[in-house]
Amino acid sequence: MIREIETTLVDVPTIRPHKLSVATMNTQTLVLVRIRCDDGIEGWGEATTIGGLAYGEESPESIKANIDTHIAPLLEGMDAGRVAVAMAKLRKSVQGNRFAKCAIETALLDAQGQRLGVPVSELLGGRVRDALPCAWTLASGDTAKDIAEAETMLDKRRHRIFKLKIGARSVKEDVDHVLAIKRALGERASVRVDVNQAWSELDAVRGIAALEAGGIDLIEQPVRADNRAALRRLAARFDVAVMADEALHGPVDAFNIARIDGADVYAVKIAQSGGLFPAQQVAAVAQLAGIGLYGGTMLEGGIGTAASAHLCSTWSELAWDTELFGPLLLTEEVLEEPLVYQDFALQVPTGPGLGVRIDTDKLQRMRRK
Ligand SMILES: [Mg+2]
Repeated sequence: MIREIETTLVDVPTIRPHKLSVATMNTQTLVLVRIRCDDGIEGWGEATTIGGLAYGEESPESIKANIDTHIAPLLEGMDAGRVAVAMAKLRKSVQGNRFAKCAIETALLDAQGQRLGVPVSELLGGRVRDALPCAWTLASGDTAKDIAEAETMLDKRRHRIFKLKIGARSVKEDVDHVLAIKRALGERASVRVDVNQAWSELDAVRGIAALEAGGIDLIEQPVRADNRAALRRLAARFDVAVMADEALHGPVDAFNIARIDGADVYAVKIAQSGGLFPAQQVAAVAQLAGIGLYGGTMLEGGIGTAASAHLCSTWSELAWDTELFGPLLLTEEVLEEPLVYQDFALQVPTGPGLGVRIDTDKLQRMRRK
């Protein structure tokens, strides 16, 4: 039985300012969910977003309030061993709130995996890979600093895929910045950009043409999420891969974008999708439509990142790798043992459930009072 659902906000400073077109982050707020079951098992989930309300329509505070006020009373007392029944009730009774639903589903699956003695990946269809190549985001905003950071990552064999956050400056300034970094790194790294919806279609035509000519591998969400026609035209016009990210709010969006050949790649995010199983449906749509897969992040800490890793580990095709580096951007770790990044890849945890242990004493000290 689900005995208690508890939420905690944890504000963690980032290792450096993280500049996106929509926000500059100096702190990340983790929303952590703990589900206590009456068989003594505890499951953990995470519902972390970016920049308050700058990126999505759920804020850390609204996620906490909605779980505490509406979702916990709905699920407490239900059979913890029947995750699908609990999630069906939640999806039927609560509109929207994808991040909150994801945190709850993650925690229920973590508990269920522990109960059955299997990793969450096995509850999602079964893992086919144990390591996930992982991109790093260069987002200091300073070209020389970004190049130095990339060189350090290459030396440490931690990342050889770099994503640059652009869109806050003029197209020309952004293109110059990106191509200077690509020239410095050459064939040693894959360089990609995320515009976070900042460009008009005309900006995008100019910007993507220059980036494609300069050897950039992937263009993420260049135009507004709701302008599917523009995204489709850009994907058709250019050879360089165009990826949908903010345009994807779950399986229905995935289906509708696939139906119009609206993107070359999908950034699959468990929170944006509304949970691990909906994210698995997004991935299934992509695979059926011949759209490439990329494991995306909301810059979650260790719990959400582990959950995402379990999901990505089940995909037989992962043409565009992942960006599951969230914990590395944070100055504090909430796990007893941090996730392992080595040889340019995140190692998927192998223990039962999420395969991570939460440092509850530390969490108690760090939580927002
Ligand atoms: Mg993105």
